[in-house]
Formats: sequence, C-alpha cells, structure tokens
Amino acid sequence: MSSTTTYESTSSGHMCDMDRCVERTSLSIRNFGRRFYGCQQWSPDSDQACKFFKWLDKNTCPRGHATTPLVHKRFARYKAEAIATRKERDKAHAREAEARELLWIAKRKAEKTKLALQIAEDKVYKYRLALFLSWTVVGVYFVFSTVLGGHGHTQLRLP
Ligand SMILES: [Zn+2]
Repeated sequence: MSSTTTYESTSSGHMCDMDRCVERTSLSIRNFGRRFYGCQQWSPDSDQACKFFKWLDKNTCPRGHATTPLVHKRFARYKAEAIATRKERDKAHAREAEARELLWIAKRKAEKTKLALQIAEDKVYKYRLALFLSWTVVGVYFVFSTVLGGHGHTQLRLP
C-alpha cells in the first residue's frame, strides 16, 4: 500500500527499460509514512512489473510504529463506513426507483379510472337524454292523440 506524489528519474537498478521512478509514500504498517522512489512501471496488481525502489527517508521512528496500527484501524473503520454508506445509498436509490415505478403505475390507473368515469358519465347523460326525449314523444303523442283523437272519432262516426 502506498500513495504516489511526484515523478523523478534515476539511472540504475531497474528491471525495465523505462528508468523512471515515482516518489511514493509507504502506508504499510512496517514503514508507514516513509517515502521511497519506486519504478513507474510497478503495479500492485502485477507480479511481472519492475520492482525497483529506493528509500528516501530513514526508518520510521518507534512512535510511528506504535501509531501506525491505530491509523490503519481507523482507516479500516472509515473504509467500512464508506462501504456501508454506499450500500445504503444504493438501497435508497433502488427504493426511490421502485417508488417512482409504483407512482407511475398509480397515475396510469388513476388516468384509466378517470377516463372510464367520464365514459360512464357520458352514457348516463345519453340515457337521460333518451329517456327525456322518449317521455316527451309519449307526452306529445298523448296530447295530440287526446286533442285529435276526439275529432277522429267524430269524423269516423257513422250517420
Ligand atoms: Zn523499472
């Protein structure tokens, strides 16, 4: 484990042909805070990379050795908290997406219900209109048949 800061050039000891080093700071328990030059090609993920390095600082002092585990413990705690927070955030995002989906479905249902209600109200209006017109026709027929019916009977009466 290390942190990288600046680029420097050296001229010997490399296992690669780059001959360029990066100044790094060790974060290991044994050499915590101790700076060193490490090959630019080095990678913690590769066993094949050039492993050339040279210490810049002297050994970490005894107090540094005693403090390092505490710092590592705190780093580990912060890292665990960060991971837990990220998981909670992801869960919250998932719940939010689920809630949005449910809200969208509810809105669609509400729109469909509103449309069905409007269609039903239109039907009721048409039935009422048809009922009114039919009763009006019956009423008119009744009035005319009463008024004209009498004349009809008188006209049809035989002498
Ligand atoms: Zn190298």
